[in-house]
Amino acid sequence: MFDDLSDLYQQVILDHCKKPRNFHEIPGATCSAHGHNPLCGDNLKLFLTIDGDRIQDAAFVGSGCCISKASASLLTESVKGRTREEARQTFDKVREMVTTGKVQDGVGKLAVFAGVYRFPARVKCAILAWHALVAALEDPGKSVTTEDEQT
Ligand code: ZN
Repeated sequence: MFDDLSDLYQQVILDHCKKPRNFHEIPGATCSAHGHNPLCGDNLKLFLTIDGDRIQDAAFVGSGCCISKASASLLTESVKGRTREEARQTFDKVREMVTTGKVQDGVGKLAVFAGVYRFPARVKCAILAWHALVAALEDPGKSVTTEDEQT
């Protein structure tokens, strides 16, 4: 399995998988959402603290495969300081990358997930945290399952 995925498990992904950033709950978070990917067993809960229209803090807890954890870790770094609309646009870019393999402008380190498109079974792992983000922004407290969602 690791041989097949050696391209995919790039250094950044491994690093964030082993040492996830912002890996904790946020007491008193403005909103949160739970994400579940039954195909792989990934489970995570995302927390956001929003002030006005801007995401001040983001964190997550949960368990799952390397891709899902690294994706959630990079998500929390990426959305801090962004507005709701910017976060939503970043979701669209990540979805575009993991389904087409085309790196989008302004995504920074998230570009590592462009390689996921070659592994269709892993797309839901990579996008799970992003579905949770959108759910938290639109419907705080929602539980999302990637099976219900069009990736
Ligand atoms: Zn997974």
